[in-house]
Amino acid sequence: MMNRAVRPGRAVGSLEIPGSRSLTNRALVTAALATGRSILRGPLDAEDTSAMRACLRSLGVTIDDGDPNAWSVQGSGGRLSAPTGRLEVGASGTTARFVTALGVLVPGAVVIDGSERMRKRPITDLVDALVALGAEIEMLGDGAGPPLRVGGRQPAGRSITINAMKSSQYVSAVALIAPLLAGDTMITFFDEVLVSRPYVEMTIDVMTRFGADIELRPGPELYVHGATGYSGTDFAIEPDFSAAVYPAAAAAITGGDVRIQGLSEQSRQADRMFFDVLEEMGCGVDWMKGGVQVHGPERLRPVRRDMSSAPDAALMLAVVCAFADGESTISSVGNLRIKESDRLMALEAQLATIGITATTTADSISVEGGRPRGGEIETYDDHRIAMSFAVAGLVAPGMTILDSECVAKTWPGFFDALDAITADATRVSDPMGVIIALDGPGGSGKTTVSRAVGERLNLPHLDTGAFYRAATLVAVEAGIDPDDSPAIIDEVKRHEYGYRGGRMMVDERDVSAEVRTDPVTRAASPVSAIPEVRRIMVAAQRDWVMAHGGSAVVEGRDIGTVVFPDADLKVYLTARRDIRAQRRASEHGRTDIGRVAGDLERRDSIDSTRKDSPLTAAEDALILDTSDLTIEQVVDLIVTEAQQRKHR
Ligand code: C5P
Repeated sequence: MMNRAVRPGRAVGSLEIPGSRSLTNRALVTAALATGRSILRGPLDAEDTSAMRACLRSLGVTIDDGDPNAWSVQGSGGRLSAPTGRLEVGASGTTARFVTALGVLVPGAVVIDGSERMRKRPITDLVDALVALGAEIEMLGDGAGPPLRVGGRQPAGRSITINAMKSSQYVSAVALIAPLLAGDTMITFFDEVLVSRPYVEMTIDVMTRFGADIELRPGPELYVHGATGYSGTDFAIEPDFSAAVYPAAAAAITGGDVRIQGLSEQSRQADRMFFDVLEEMGCGVDWMKGGVQVHGPERLRPVRRDMSSAPDAALMLAVVCAFADGESTISSVGNLRIKESDRLMALEAQLATIGITATTTADSISVEGGRPRGGEIETYDDHRIAMSFAVAGLVAPGMTILDSECVAKTWPGFFDALDAITADATRVSDPMGVIIALDGPGGSGKTTVSRAVGERLNLPHLDTGAFYRAATLVAVEAGIDPDDSPAIIDEVKRHEYGYRGGRMMVDERDVSAEVRTDPVTRAASPVSAIPEVRRIMVAAQRDWVMAHGGSAVVEGRDIGTVVFPDADLKVYLTARRDIRAQRRASEHGRTDIGRVAGDLERRDSIDSTRKDSPLTAAEDALILDTSDLTIEQVVDLIVTEAQQRKHR
């Protein structure tokens, strides 16, 4: 049993999260039943999916999970074999339900058992549905859960009614085996209630991808064509939104800025809605090509939300609400009481541990926002309780998560990921890294000087101005009016920005020349003044430095003040206005110095008066007036200073 102390800190940076557990376990089942081989790309390797793999192997399915990014499943064509021993589902709900349904396809008896907690989680509504299809099932325990024995009588498709008030997994389980049954299966629901409906929609999506014929009709009524089977396919698993809620919440409560890679706004995963709730609470949520970026506000607004369609995310939400200004209510989440723990009880008790008042009813929880303090958190062997309160520990000092290894159920690397995005916020990745920040107005010599400093100190060089120019370029190319901020933001989000070997890239296209043209230069300052544009660019710049080992010479307008406020050395370069204009003019072979000076002045004035990250010297910056110095002299001064600091 391992206890884990959480180190407080602002969450900043970018991370990858594991594949969706729900998609992985569904795809494992369809691939196992399919004819032919399937490849599952980007799967989740965690306890829940390992329980599923072990059960499927016991049923005679061959799974090669040697390559962590692409598992290969040799489909059985629906011909599963009887296992020699009991099938252990551990604490995995989807495994328990789906494997129970698979059991009815096996010629022979299958005994299914699970953890102590699993034995208490009801499965009778599923058992009733399978029996209605003609299966033979015997409950072996004294509760409403496993152990149970599924007998050798093959059911057939027909019309049945399922009680789907407690869990949608019963419905998904029946649906998953229905294409293997003779005859069509039509499922209706008691009182027309189907909880967690997006999860059933996800099941439908996966089944369809593997060639099944299934439809959710109004009513609701689920219609699955029988005897179609599945065909093996190449299936890409999306990153897990249920995991993504934790780093997103970390940004929300710490006033941080976190980018989560690979998530799509269009995803059908239920917990995608958590991001809408964060937005309602006051967070900035930017969906971009390649991921989503969450920006925490100074104050969080309370919310009232029906979370019946995304109960997993409700836990993190309840903890986020502990930091909001006022009382929040999360409703229609009664089924939280029958998950890995009685999650409503667990939330109420552990929120009390951190000094927050929460009151629960049979199916809701109200949280009085305040100033949570640290405490020892009981986790009830529930990964989501552990992860939710670990995130709270970023703000509330002294948080210890008891028996923290329970996170391995769905995210074994959770604590490392949390550390990585809070590793002292701006010391991006490597505490041994060296960051030199060079700021200053146009014509102060930044680019030439920082390139030379990078070469002398053997550090990579990043020109952040090129990023703002690239953002401006995409807006100019799309013909957007420079005053139309919303349209500019939308366009900027549609692309990916990179900087390779001193070349500026937009979506793999080298735009180094295009970003230097006059129309772009003219529009760059107004575009750079848009806060959303800055958020996106700052994240891309920090990512770049992180990808380069946390060391770099970074030049721009806000590097020492905003992008890397903890840089090892901050330099602010400046020069008299006439000198700067002369330098710019000779750079571009122009003789109209008056106009060049005017253009420079206009840009300087927008850059230094904008609300968000104006151009200004950091308090602890070394200020260098380069008017009467040669480039070599400036470089020497900076290199000497950097070396002296290193030895101090
Ligand atoms: O340095 P450069 O002239 O290429 O920068 C173009 C524009 O990008 C600047 O005028 C400024 O408006 C913006 N910029 C910024 N923050 C940075 C770098 C550049 O706002 N860190």
